[in-house]
Amino acid sequence: MSEQAQARAARLREEIQDFCAKTVPKALREKSRRHQVLGKEDYVQWMRLLHQQGWAVAHWPLAYGGQAWSMLERFVFEDELARQGMPWVIPFGVKYVGPVIYTYGSQAQKQRFLPPIVNTDEFWAQGYSEPQAGSDLASLRTTAVRDGDEYVVNGQKVWTTYAHWADWLFCLVRTAVSPSDSVISGEKGRPQNAISFLLIDMKSPGVTVRKIGTMDGFHHVNEVWLEDVRVPAENLIGEEGGGWTYAKFLLQNERTTGSLVGMAWHALDRAQELAATLPDGRGGFLGDSPLVRHRLGEFDLRLLALEQTAYRAVRAMSEATDNGGEASLIKIRGPELHQDIAEACIDLLGHAGMAYDPVSLHSAGLPPLGPDDAGGLIKDHLYNRASTIFGGSSEIQRNIIAKTVCGL
Ligand SMILES: Cc1cc2nc3c(=O)[nH]c(=O)nc-3n(C[C@H](O)[C@H](O)[C@H](O)COP(=O)(O)OP(=O)(O)OC[C@H]3O[C@@H](n4cnc5c(N)ncnc54)[C@H](O)[C@@H]3O)c2cc1C
Repeated sequence: MSEQAQARAARLREEIQDFCAKTVPKALREKSRRHQVLGKEDYVQWMRLLHQQGWAVAHWPLAYGGQAWSMLERFVFEDELARQGMPWVIPFGVKYVGPVIYTYGSQAQKQRFLPPIVNTDEFWAQGYSEPQAGSDLASLRTTAVRDGDEYVVNGQKVWTTYAHWADWLFCLVRTAVSPSDSVISGEKGRPQNAISFLLIDMKSPGVTVRKIGTMDGFHHVNEVWLEDVRVPAENLIGEEGGGWTYAKFLLQNERTTGSLVGMAWHALDRAQELAATLPDGRGGFLGDSPLVRHRLGEFDLRLLALEQTAYRAVRAMSEATDNGGEASLIKIRGPELHQDIAEACIDLLGHAGMAYDPVSLHSAGLPPLGPDDAGGLIKDHLYNRASTIFGGSSEIQRNIIAKTVCGL
């Protein structure tokens, strides 16, 4: 990586630190510090703040209002925001479907959908997974049958994050009854060839969203039922039967790694603070114990190794020499480490780590036992059990590494 690129990335890191300290409103900073669950209005505010800063779509090409950020800048952006404990950069519009639309969409689709994505005027959800079609996505069964100028869609999506807030769903559907009916010629017989990529208005008759409760006690994910939903054919991206190509392109964007490293650093900083400030009941602090110091020291080493691996991956991606194994390695190690650090935080909290009441997490002036972020730390710990599952489970990532790196 050139010195110039590194200097630009270092400047960006400083600008982000400044932005977090001075521009992000105090109320949002406080909610984030306490790891509270943010509402849709919080996220809209957050995404618009990033847009005002010129960062929401800075990774897009210049032609679409971006700044054509390098891989290193993309990494630093996600890493530093997470390190500062800022909210999640909601990826569904700016990072996932936006690039699919400007790469494969028609001119009319670009004009219709890109501006509201840039300013988060419309909220998106990702309709990939189905019952029996998560890791094995190509076996999805939701059908879209052409009827004149429309598709009639029937099926069920599951685990759809923020579908209850979404205006639009980008959705993988089966447009051919059997793989051999696929309109894509030359490669008949693969189930992937019957898949298409459709944009569905969540207000369409026949769309029903049902909450799935997660064990942190909040509402993040949903089932989405699609019953005779009529979707204009103009909402098909690219070619009928070409959806698998667009879906894979999108998944590549899902596999950037900055936030995984930054989140782990942020959690470790908090664990170290807790160890240094929580009394051990013998006149000292929990961090006086060699066992605690050893546990945290080991996280430090694992995190340094993860960070170096992430930088190597960024370099490989910049030089287009990556083989797919790098991102998988980080997707395994990052969430595992984050889960282990979160568990250590709960252990350090002692009794406060057991007294979890989701309601108290949002009641100002009513902190649970212990520090006022205790409830939030437990909430994150419970929700983050999912981080080794979503975005491709750890077992699937191991399979990818076995194939791409070990050649098995
Ligand atoms: C909190 C959360 C949010 C999510 N958000 C979204 C979303 O917004 N949109 C969306 O489309 N999806 C979303 N998902 C779905 C997520 O992508 C899937 O859960 C994931 O791909 C795993 O699929 P599955 O749940 O069907 O599990 P399965 O694929 O049934 O896997 C079950 C178990 O078997 C293992 N396994 C499966 N196949 C293999 C194999 N070949 N070799 C070894 N082990 C294997 C898996 O690792 C796992 O442990 C979300 C999931 C969660 C938990």
